[in-house]
This record gives sequence, structure tokens and C-alpha cells, in this order.
Amino acid sequence: MASLAAEAGLREGDGRTMGVFEHIDGGGYEQVVYCSDDDSGLRAIIAIHSTALGPALGGTRFYPYPSEDAALADVLRLARGMTLKAAAAGLDLGGGKAVIIGDPRRDKTEELLRAYGRFVETLGGRYITAEDVGTAIEDMDVVRRESRWVTGCSHTYGGSGDPSPVTAYGVMQGMRACLLEVFGNGSLEGRTVSLMGVGKVGYALCGYLVNEGAQVTIADVDVDNLARAVSDYGVETAPLEKIHTLEADVFAPCALGGAINDDSISELGCAIVAGSANNQLAREELGDKLRDLAVTYAPDFVINAGGLINIEDELRGYDRERAVRRVEGIYRQLQHIFAMARERNISSARAAQEYARDRIRRISRIRLVRTAEYGPDRSG
Ligand code: NAD
Repeated sequence: MASLAAEAGLREGDGRTMGVFEHIDGGGYEQVVYCSDDDSGLRAIIAIHSTALGPALGGTRFYPYPSEDAALADVLRLARGMTLKAAAAGLDLGGGKAVIIGDPRRDKTEELLRAYGRFVETLGGRYITAEDVGTAIEDMDVVRRESRWVTGCSHTYGGSGDPSPVTAYGVMQGMRACLLEVFGNGSLEGRTVSLMGVGKVGYALCGYLVNEGAQVTIADVDVDNLARAVSDYGVETAPLEKIHTLEADVFAPCALGGAINDDSISELGCAIVAGSANNQLAREELGDKLRDLAVTYAPDFVINAGGLINIEDELRGYDRERAVRRVEGIYRQLQHIFAMARERNISSARAAQEYARDRIRRISRIRLVRTAEYGPDRSG
């Protein structure tokens, strides 16, 4: 008799495909939604990690994943990261993320984005989407035609536009908190910063830092981006493989993840690591190693939360001034995390995780009580 697994088209024994439950078990995930639309060719996965603090907000990544397993692994990892980021930023949001499998340059069509929007709408606000790698503001405008649960739309639709300059502004505030922690003075005047990646966030950050009187040296794989920053801000450049080794007050990773890895960590020439990139530590334990090396690390999901704070503001009717004021809170947030790390004798990376998890525990308890108080009256 054929097994249930074989009937379902799953392979058994060696090399078998991992089931979704195997991927999510133990990770605290609430819901994983597979979305398929034959007419437009949509294949997407929405992962809701947690709604303990509020609706799960996270961007939609459009990427040509080599396999369904790779797409699932990525969306789960990213959704979980959003839970921590929202909690540490003090937002009433949970964590979620979505991936659309495909090449955005070839496969992105209005039909596909609208089909995706209809799936987002079916979740009734448990998941709220935004742009991410492979999707842009214009795409969110299309998704919005099918669903209310979209942020990061263009100004025309009451959205907040590109979040990158606000993210950069938050990173600068975080950098100032790091300088205060290390040098007892949060001013950027005369400070040296090595900046890796001058894309949307890195370019804006470069401008802010130069305005504040910092001496900035940049590196990027993209020669056009490099040339734009040099021409607009008159900054110096360094070879890519050397940027993290330069003697500087701050090293700011603003390109891809993994800038702090087993090779680069012992070559760092900085007192502080503070940048916008997600997943800067190739392994979690490298946060402890940075502490051993007396390098002050601004945990990535705390310092780069400006973009999330900015799009969250859309949920209450976007007000840029208010959003920017709230992003300035990253300064105090990091001060708090550094103090916690000192008290508990742990790395700032661990302190940030503990802070976020602790907030989820405390606040979700309050929400449970409130739900019970205001829930349906069963007394009759
Ligand atoms: P981007 O694609 O506009 O810029 C990335 C830049 O890094 C590009 O100029 C690219 O050429 C460069 N780059 C790529 N590989 C490199 C390498 N090996 N060495 C040096 N440079 C390299 O992206 P972005 O929106 O500026 O985001 C930068 C980082 O910040 C990403 O990790 C992103 O996840 C994170 N982030 C961005 C936002 C936001 O608001 N855009 C918010 C939070 C976090």
C-alpha cells in the first residue's frame, strides 16, 4: 500500500524534502500561508512569526529562489527577525514577511502583484506588507489596489515613500549613542567613519555624516554608486577588501549581511560597529567575540529600525515629522541596551535579544488581559 507521504508526492528516506512543520517546529511561528495563482503564475509564501504585540508587519521579497525549501527558509528567518525588530523598537507590531518566488525583472506583472494583494487581504490585517528586495514603492501602490494592509506606498496614496533616508537618519542617531558610550561624547565632529555600501541607505547616511563634520571613507562594488557619493560629498574611497580594516572610530556595514564574519572580525580597525545592514553578524556568537575585542556593537535590528518605524507611522495617517521624532528614539534605545549589557555582563547583541523577548512577554500579557476584558460577553 502506498504511504500517505508517497500519495502526497513527498519523497521518503534519504534526501527527502523537509515538511513545513519540521521547518517551523520550535521556532514559535504562528502561521505559514502558501499562495498560488495559476493565471498570473504567482507562487508566494507569507510567514507570520508572531502577532503577540500586534499585526505582523514585514516586506515582500521578490527573488528567484533556487527551490521552494530555500524560499521557505528565507521567509521564516526574515519573519522572526521582524518580530525582534518591532519589539525592540517599542512598536505595537508583530513580525512577518513574505516572499514571491521568481525573477522580478522577468516575472513581475500587474496581474501577479494584484493576485498577491488579494492573498494579503484574505489575512484580514494579521499580516501587513511593505517593500523589500525586489519590490518597490510602485509595486506597493499596485498591491494596495487589492488590499488595505499595505505600507510603504507612494506619497500620492498617503504613503511614506522610500524609507531609506529615514533608516539612515536612525543609524546616525544610533552611531551617536555608540560614540557617547565609547568616548563620553556623542558628537560626530571630527570622527572617522568607514562606510561599506553606499546604496539607498549608505548614500543618505554618508550625506548626514559629512554634514555633521565626520570624515568618511567609503567602499562599494558598484562603481556608479561610489562615484555618486564621491562627487556629491567629496569623501575618500578605499578598496572593498580593506574597508573594515581601516583605523576608524566607526565601521558602518550598509551593504549585505555577514560583514562581521570569522575572517573579518580579527581584522577590524574600529572601536564601534554601527550600520544599517541586516544580519551583520555571520554567526550569533560573534557578538560575544566583539565584546571580548572591546568593539562596541550596535545590534543591527535596533539601529536599522528607522525604516520600520517610518512605515508603521502610515498606519495612523503618515506624519513625517512625527515619524522622524520617533526614529530619534533609537539613540535612547541603544543607550538602554548598552546599560543592560553592562549590568548583565553580556554582549550588546544578547542584551538586544533579551530586551525584545522580555518586551514581548510583558506586553503580550497585557494584551491577553485586555482581550479577555473586551471580548464577547459570554455571561448570558
Ligand atoms: P541597496 O541595494 O540600495 O544598497 C546596497 C549597496 O551595497 C549597493 O550600493 C551595493 O552595490 C553595495 N554592495 C553590495 N555588495 C557589496 C559588497 N560586497 N561590498 C560593498 N558594497 C556592496 O540597499 P539599501 O536599501 O541601501 O540597504 C542596505 C542594507 O541595509 C541592507 O542590508 C538592507 O537589508 C538594510 N536595511 C535597509 C533599510 C532601508 O530602509 N532601505 C532598512 C533596514 C535595513
